[in-house]
Amino acid sequence: MHGKRRYFTQADAELVLGALHTSRDPRRREVRSYLCSTCHGWHLTSTTIEQYTAARTARRAPITLAVPETRDPIPTPAELAARLGAHPAPATPAATGRLLTALTRLRRRLARLRKR
Ligand SMILES: [Zn+2]
Repeated sequence: MHGKRRYFTQADAELVLGALHTSRDPRRREVRSYLCSTCHGWHLTSTTIEQYTAARTARRAPITLAVPETRDPIPTPAELAARLGAHPAPATPAATGRLLTALTRLRRRLARLRKR
C-alpha cells in the first residue's frame, strides 16, 4: 500500500477526505481513512468497512476441531488416550518397586525405633 499518500495523523487524512467530498474528480473515490499496519501512517481507501470485512471473512478458513467423532457414551480418559494413540503411563519398573518397598520398611523400622 505504499504507492499511497501517507498522512501523519488521522486528522490530516480526514481533512483531505473532507476536501475530496466537495471535489468533482471522478478518480478520487476514497470513502474513509485507516491506520496502516505497515508504515503506521494514515491512508485513504475507496473500500468501505463493510467491503473490507466481507473480504476478510471470506478469506479466513473455517475453524475445525481435531476431536474424533463418536456416538458412544462419554469415554474414560484411558479410552480417549487409546483412541488418540497416546501411550499409556508405563508400569512402575521392578527396580523402582523394590526401592519403594525397602523405603516403606525403613520408615516403619524408624517409627518403631522412635517409640522406644
Ligand atoms: Zn502504509
